Formats: sequence, C-alpha cells, structure tokens
Amino acid sequence: MTQTQDHRPISVDALDRDSFYIDGRWARPATGDVIEVVSPHTEQVVARVPEGRPADIDAAVAAARRAFDEGPWPRTSPAERIEVVQRLSGLYAARLGDMAELITIEMGSPTSFANLAQSPAPWMQIEAFIAIARDFAWESARPGVLGSDVLVRHEPVGVVAAIAPWNVPQFTLVSKVVPALLAGCTVVAKPAPESPLDAYLLAELLDEAGVPPGVVNIVAGGREAGAHLVAHAGIDKVAFTGSTAAGRTIGAVCGEQLKRCSLELGGKSAAIVLDDADLTATMEGLRFTSFMNSGQACVAQTRVLAPRGRYAEVVDALAQTAASMPVGDPADPATEVGPMVARRQQERVTSYIEVGRGEGARLVTGGTGMPEGLDRGWYVRPTVFADVDNRMRIAQEEIFGPVVSVIAYDGVEEAVRIANDSDYGLAGTVWTADLAAGIDVARQVRTGTYGVNTYTMDFAAPFGGFKASGLGREFGPEGMAQYTEVKSIYTPPPAG
Ligand code: NAD
Repeated sequence: MTQTQDHRPISVDALDRDSFYIDGRWARPATGDVIEVVSPHTEQVVARVPEGRPADIDAAVAAARRAFDEGPWPRTSPAERIEVVQRLSGLYAARLGDMAELITIEMGSPTSFANLAQSPAPWMQIEAFIAIARDFAWESARPGVLGSDVLVRHEPVGVVAAIAPWNVPQFTLVSKVVPALLAGCTVVAKPAPESPLDAYLLAELLDEAGVPPGVVNIVAGGREAGAHLVAHAGIDKVAFTGSTAAGRTIGAVCGEQLKRCSLELGGKSAAIVLDDADLTATMEGLRFTSFMNSGQACVAQTRVLAPRGRYAEVVDALAQTAASMPVGDPADPATEVGPMVARRQQERVTSYIEVGRGEGARLVTGGTGMPEGLDRGWYVRPTVFADVDNRMRIAQEEIFGPVVSVIAYDGVEEAVRIANDSDYGLAGTVWTADLAAGIDVARQVRTGTYGVNTYTMDFAAPFGGFKASGLGREFGPEGMAQYTEVKSIYTPPPAG
C-alpha cells in the first residue's frame, strides 16, 4: 500500500475521496474498488469513495495495534485524553451544519431531523462523555474483607472495532469512538457503505484535534470488510450497531474467540396510549417518535397500543397525523418523511405493506406506490394499519420504514403483555395524564429504555436493549465501562 499525505478537506461541494484514514495519514486503498454513494432522492451517484477490502482492514488494525501496544495513548492520563477530546468537541461544534448536510446527501435523512439529531446529538454525546470521564472511577481503593486494601483499576480494553449502520451513521460512530478514546483504547472504525461521507469529516476533526497517529483509523466498507474486522486476531473488542441478524453472527464469532462485544440491534417498540391520554399531545409525540428519520430508527414506536374504548379515535388521529406529514426532498426544511436509504430498503418496506394486507390488517392511510407528486427517489408513503393482531408479522418484525400498526387492548395489564410479546426490547413509551401511572407501566415493560409522554435519549444514562435488541449498554458511566477491563490489585495487610 502506498500512502499519501495529500489532503483535500471534505466539503459538501467536493465529496469524492481516494483514500482511507489510517495511522494518521490519508492512505491509498489496497484495491481500486469503489463505493458509489447514491442519492436516495435523485437516484444519481453523488460521490465515489474507496471500498475497504480485507487488506485495508489489515493495515488499519496493524496501525491501531501498534498505537495501542507501543504508542503513548493508552499510557496517557484520563486528564490528557479529556483535553484532546475537548478540542474535538470545539471543532465538532463548528461543523454541525456540514455534518448534517453530508448525512442528508448520503442517506436521505430529512434536513429537519439531520439538524435536530444527526449532528447535534453526537456533539452532545462528546460533551456528556467528557463529563463522565472526569468523574469516572478509573482507579479506586476499597477495603478488602481480609484486612488489606484492593486497588480496582479500569484499564483500556484494547483495540476496538467500531461498526456502524447507515441510519444514524455519526451518532453510532461517535457513541463508540469517543468513549473508546477517553478510556485509552485505539480504534478501527468501519462505517456502512451507504454512508461513508460523514465519517471522512469525523476523521478530519479527530486529526485536527491532535489524536495521535493510529489511535483512530477509518475504513468504509461492506459486510465482507466488517466480518474480516470482527474476526481479526488484532481486535480485542467489537462495538457494533446494526441489525439483529448481523449481531447474532458477530456475537457468535466474539463468543468463539472470547472477544468482548457490545451489540446495539433492532427494535419493535410499543407506544401504549392509556385511557386518560391527551390525544393531541400524544399525536405530536408519535409524529416524531414513530416516524423520525422516515421511520428508519431503531427506537421508532412502530406498534401503537390503544384502549378498545378509544380505538377508533386513536386510529383516526394517527392516520391524520401520518397523512399530514410532508414527504419529499430531504433537503427541503419542510420535509418530515424523506426517501428510504436504498431501492432495496424501499422494496423491503413496501413488501411489508403487502404482507400486512395479506394478513388481514386494515390499511388506513399510505400504502404501496409513490407518494403524490413524486416520480423518482426511494419513497414510501407514511402508512398506518389498523385491526392489527400482535401475532402478525407486521407487528413482530422490524420493518424499518414509515409503517405503524395500531393494536387494541383491554386493560393496562393486557397492554403491558402485548408490549412484552416481542423478541425485541429496545424502547417503548406510554402516553397518559398520570405520570405515576406512566412510570408504573414503564417498570413493567421489558426494554432497555422507556419514555413517559416523551422519548428523548439522555447521554448521561445507559442506552441499549433487552432480549434480541442487544447486549451491553452505550452512554452513561455504564457505556464508558464497556471500553475498559477491570483489574484488582491486592496489597498485603499492613504489617503488625
Ligand atoms: P446491518 O446489520 O446490515 O449493517 C450494520 C453494519 O454492519 C454495516 O456497517 C455493515 O456493513 C456491517 N455488517 C453487516 N454484516 C456484518 C457482519 N456479518 N460482520 C461484520 N459487519 C457486518 O444493519 P443496517 O441495515 O446498516 O442498519 C439497520 C439496523 O440497525 C436496524 O436493524 C436497526 O434497528 C439497527 N440499529 C440499531 C441501533 C441501536 O442503537 N440499537 C441504532 C441504529 C440502528
């Protein structure tokens, strides 16, 4: 592999790249293979970047391994690492608009969502992780039971493979790279082939912040590159966000090799509308939490559970909400639902709409076919199904598009049972006039996160899934701990 230091900063006007970020340099790829980034709105190629192959992953892992085994980073103090990440935070804050724009260009996230969540949220994560790192018990003494003291140390876990999906590409990359950095790890990050552009901007910001060579390496590529990275002998821990299917494969490899791994996977979350809920406020909440990022969100509330006495009212209100959302060009600030990331995703979502019809669910709004006024782009109409039984496939399987099912329940106990009748356990919400009743429901639903009359993730608190939604947690001190190994140092009891 030849290397080059030539460097043209990524900007929204010049998106093509010819190198990877390896060992603090812009490194030429091992092959001439190229990823074509296609706009989901125009269906035209908007950028070409190299496609990472196993030889590129090998180079990135070698650099990360050297930086971990011989470099200064794991041996710096938490305070020194915080200083570098603090610089990153300042640089990141200045590029929030560019970051959001890149994500809208590459994967079609509506600019309203991109500027609200796709770039501000990663920046908030950086700030939250800095605060957590300041207070984290990196090394603490505790009294032993045998008369001696024990020194308990959190040491960096080693070389981390950070693998991200396309739907919230920066969010999921930063949630791994930044705690890994603060813990003293080194990283090989692999963005998804649909969304490599934002990762180039992150590489530039890390470089400018003074992260030493080899500490973070970024190689975009597909499944083959990801699988090679996961199984690589030079990797100590895999931090993965993506589908449950890929998570199972990755978990099996890590189990076999006894590698540490954390898995953030799919969801099929239920929004429970209680009898006393204010429907106007509930619909405002669901408009966002069910359809955010055009429904391509792991935490989307895709099952709405309505009390039988108010079932028709909830179905009508949700159908009106879905039908009122502007669908179209993701760069238009008024757009609430943009295109699906790829043609295959559009086909997947519309095929589920056919499945729902075939299962006997009642299509209330939306359906297959292009939204009005659009004749190209990978769009799906915001769709609501009523008369859904929780055993139907549309209620059990993750569709990952703007398709919501409304399910009737009799009594809160049954609502909780239906919410829990899922392989997944990532998120959930309850909508009620009675906060205490809402918290009571929250306690009974088996998911890693839950919202009462809202769903706002908080980076001070752990995030992750029960059941098939994953293993381990991101964010909060619990998330930081996942980038550490814990060591106990025993000292002899004081003489005499
Ligand atoms: P995906 O599993 O197809 O791919 C995710 C990433 O893993 C990509 O970078 C891909 O190239 C790579 N990959 C795929 N198979 C791999 C393998 N066998 N070994 C190593 N790497 C592999 O998922 P996707 O379609 O990109 O993303 C959508 C999924 O991600 C949804 O299921 C969604 O719920 C989930 N997701 C979960 C969270 C969360 O925090 N729990 C957040 C966002 C997305």
